[in-house]
Amino acid sequence: MSFDLAARLAARRAEHLYRQRPLLDSPQGPDVVVDGQPLLAFCNNDYLGLANHPQVIEAWRAGASRWGVGGGASHLVVGHATPHHELEEALADLTGRPRALLFTTGYMANLGAVTGLVGQGDTVLEDRLNHASLLDAGLLSGARFNRYLHNDADSLAKRLEKATGNTLVVTDGVFSMDGDLADLPALARATKAKGAWLMVDDAHGFGPLGAHGGGIVEHFGLSQEDVPVLVGTLGKAFGTAGAFVAGSDALIESLIQFARPYIYTTSQPPALACATLKSLELLRTEHWRREHLNALIRQFRQGAEQIGLALMDSFTPIQPILIGDSAKAMRLSQMLRERGLMVTAIRPPTVPAGSARLRVTLTAAHSEAQVQLLLNALEECFRLLGATEPDHA
Ligand SMILES: *Cc1c(COP(=O)(O)O)cnc(C)c1O
Repeated sequence: MSFDLAARLAARRAEHLYRQRPLLDSPQGPDVVVDGQPLLAFCNNDYLGLANHPQVIEAWRAGASRWGVGGGASHLVVGHATPHHELEEALADLTGRPRALLFTTGYMANLGAVTGLVGQGDTVLEDRLNHASLLDAGLLSGARFNRYLHNDADSLAKRLEKATGNTLVVTDGVFSMDGDLADLPALARATKAKGAWLMVDDAHGFGPLGAHGGGIVEHFGLSQEDVPVLVGTLGKAFGTAGAFVAGSDALIESLIQFARPYIYTTSQPPALACATLKSLELLRTEHWRREHLNALIRQFRQGAEQIGLALMDSFTPIQPILIGDSAKAMRLSQMLRERGLMVTAIRPPTVPAGSARLRVTLTAAHSEAQVQLLLNALEECFRLLGATEPDHA
């Protein structure tokens, strides 16, 4: 036996699923340079335009001068520095939870939270469209693992009937490839009725959603009883990097004891926590960012409907246009790029088979004029390519 990697790669190419990494040669923002070409981009998750904010950069610089660059050790050894601790307190305050625990990435926060809470003999129930890190976490935990129909509290309730042991129900808050919201009030009711726990990964909700950027839980006005395990990531609207789990004192202490992806890794650079403390302040106080973003979302949806594009049920900054066929999605993305616009085509296995899409993301750093440019280009490309209907929606 040998690894026939060349054949695997060729098959991937033949299915129009081959991945390539665009080379970014500028800071993140609407105006980027990619593969040497200046482009107007609608594909990052920097929803509030904080990834390249002068005050956040200054906080990073000042943090590095004071605390150095490397975390130096894991949190349990000697890597838990004052800026990490202050950031945890600020995140607890943002979420209205007693405590928050800082992780190095969202992927690790999800692995840590799920594997720290359930194991053999327990049950994990997940939305079938959950982010890959949540699905991986469920499998890694060793608990019985089952997926319910997308955003369907009845489908969840049926699976809860058969659940054994400690049962964790896990969902994205805002679904990352569709932009729709989890029906958290219904999911929380079904979960609580069975004495199970609900864990929400609100990577895309913190910042854009909620009156103060507190995400989907603030949007729906839910309590810690409704959502005992709340995950946020810092690489999206916060514009920096890392992630957190917020919840009760007992939850956080348990994760410090048992979450291996928390324990066995070096803490993030303390200067990064300094930068995030600043971006958190901007996220909470500069309401104009959310208001401008919401105006752009309305503008985009109105314009896209006029053109007849297949939008999804989303009022978040994630505004996918359903295409269906992967090759066609790639072709449209390429045509937009030839017109100076960057919109990523998302294909299986990231999304279900036959549901390739253009994933448009809007940010507070975009202008109305830029959104209009996007709409004009979409109109032209869809007209040149024929039908606006998705192939098999
Ligand atoms: C991006 C994302 C993650 C992973 O977070 P990172 O900090 O980038 O590792 C987890 N969950 C969801 C829903 C995401 O969109």
